[in-house]
Amino acid sequence: MKVDTPWIEDFVDALSQVTGQGEVPLHVPEFSGNEWTYLKDCLDSTFVSSVGQYVDQFEVELAKFTGAKYAVAVVNGTAALHVALELSGVQGNDEVLVPTMTFVATANAVRYCGATPHFVDCETSTLGMDVERLRLHLERISEIRGDQCVNRQTGRVIRAIVPMHTFGHPSDLNGLVKLAHEFKLVLIEDAAEALGSFYQGTHVGVFGRFGVLSFNGNKTITTGGGGALLTNDERLAKHAKHLTTTAKRVHPWEYFHDEVGYNYRMPNINAALGCAQLEQLPKLLIEKRNLYEQYKKSLGKLNGVTLLNEPEGCRSNYWLQTIMLSEGRQDQLTALLEFTNKKGQMTRPIWNLLHTLPSYSNAPRMDLRCAQDMAKSLLNIPSSAVLGRVAC
Ligand SMILES: *Cc1c(COP(=O)(O)O)cnc(C)c1O
Repeated sequence: MKVDTPWIEDFVDALSQVTGQGEVPLHVPEFSGNEWTYLKDCLDSTFVSSVGQYVDQFEVELAKFTGAKYAVAVVNGTAALHVALELSGVQGNDEVLVPTMTFVATANAVRYCGATPHFVDCETSTLGMDVERLRLHLERISEIRGDQCVNRQTGRVIRAIVPMHTFGHPSDLNGLVKLAHEFKLVLIEDAAEALGSFYQGTHVGVFGRFGVLSFNGNKTITTGGGGALLTNDERLAKHAKHLTTTAKRVHPWEYFHDEVGYNYRMPNINAALGCAQLEQLPKLLIEKRNLYEQYKKSLGKLNGVTLLNEPEGCRSNYWLQTIMLSEGRQDQLTALLEFTNKKGQMTRPIWNLLHTLPSYSNAPRMDLRCAQDMAKSLLNIPSSAVLGRVAC
């Protein structure tokens, strides 16, 4: 491999026209609203933990913003995925369809239920699941028995499908809803990266039985650590609340737990931060879109590089800005990573594909050639909302 230094220097120039010089992180949170006020209020009240009003308020505001009937706040997005899968009936010896190109939590949550991830390929326009090729795969390897989809090769029930909205770009939700219906699969959206993203005018996370959000420090808004389940089903929302709060029956003094629950409740102090962050969300989304426009202007002049934009009919939150190298430039990825990071411009490749990790190397899968190709060509570039504010 030969490093094309002039081309890489052009890239870094174009990048720093937008981000400025010096150390530029990949994504930093922004606390420019009522964060201090609500946190102080929370401390003054002494209700920092499992009791307090901010959790309720955060859930109400989240439901309002996303259009979900119910939101249940929990400790992190991974816990939300775990509970969503468990309440969807995923159990030991099941399989669950998940992308190979996602953060490891999507597959780990499947494993927490004792089930096995079954890896699905992506397509290039959304970076989400390739619905048409998945359909062909399922037609080939599965059959419907009663109201279950059975993998004929492994004998296991394929219970659910968990598409992920990569970097905030909505997947093909119409296609996924239809496929899930045809193959009797429960649809759970991993919308951890996609708060503020809309598919044909509807917020993502409400198309299936559950949607899952994350408020980790590097996401669009943060509660320090946190997550939420979205659902339109009242019974499931209540059960999710119950299961994530140790399954304790309401009683003035008695400790009676009617099933094996989890301590997945979001502490009040995290929810206080979340309430303030949610107020800032519309502004953050504008800044992130501005940043995309700025990058488009400066990186658009370079050859061999495409900036990913929102899929047709969708509005993305542009959580992480992403470039794709053309085939002829894929051999420059490592050099590009080295050079940008040395210059202080923090860039990152895509996750190692999950089917290549030791925990999942034996898991069933479809042909994953698109993800394998994309893994060689995707690069996340500095994406903090504050960069969009500076630039506009
Ligand atoms: C961030 C993320 C999660 C997990 O969220 P945590 O709050 O960090 O547990 C799950 N899936 C995807 C795709 C994510 O990006």
